[in-house]
Amino acid sequence: MEYIPTIGLEIHVELKTKTKMFCNCPNDSDEKHPNVNICPVCLGYPGTLPVANKLAIEYVLKTGFALGCENPKISKFDRKNYFYPDLPKGYQISQYDMPLCQSGKIVIDKNKVRIRRIHLEEDTGRLLHASDGKSSLIDLLFWFVRILLMSASCFLASTSISARLMGSSKVDNLSKFF
Ligand SMILES: [Zn+2]
Repeated sequence: MEYIPTIGLEIHVELKTKTKMFCNCPNDSDEKHPNVNICPVCLGYPGTLPVANKLAIEYVLKTGFALGCENPKISKFDRKNYFYPDLPKGYQISQYDMPLCQSGKIVIDKNKVRIRRIHLEEDTGRLLHASDGKSSLIDLLFWFVRILLMSASCFLASTSISARLMGSSKVDNLSKFF
């Protein structure tokens, strides 16, 4: 029996906007100190109201346009509830059934890679583990940094194509949008 590799890629991209995805905290990836540039909205305090970053949405729509995606008339954000130490508020704002873009494609070496969806979601914090293995710390600095996520699923004639997709000049050109 001959097997055909079926490969799906989930690509996370950090967008270069001045502020984070749902609040006005600076989005400074050069910041070296942990747990700065955070606010009650980042921390999910009761009564706070996340407001979506308009520029981040524009970036996603531009990417969708470049990849020939459809843009539904209505899109929405959803709460993905789960527990993990880097997500102390207990949920992540993401997009589930109504993403900003869907059904696009990118052609790599004459192979059509289908883009199933592009959506926005907030990032989580990150865990810093002590070298002695006895303790872990949480850095929420990167919490709420907007993430553009592309899920592609396709039949590929060669697994090397997925590697080429990651290094593709077309993907590089897309990144210049941001
Ligand atoms: Zn904030």
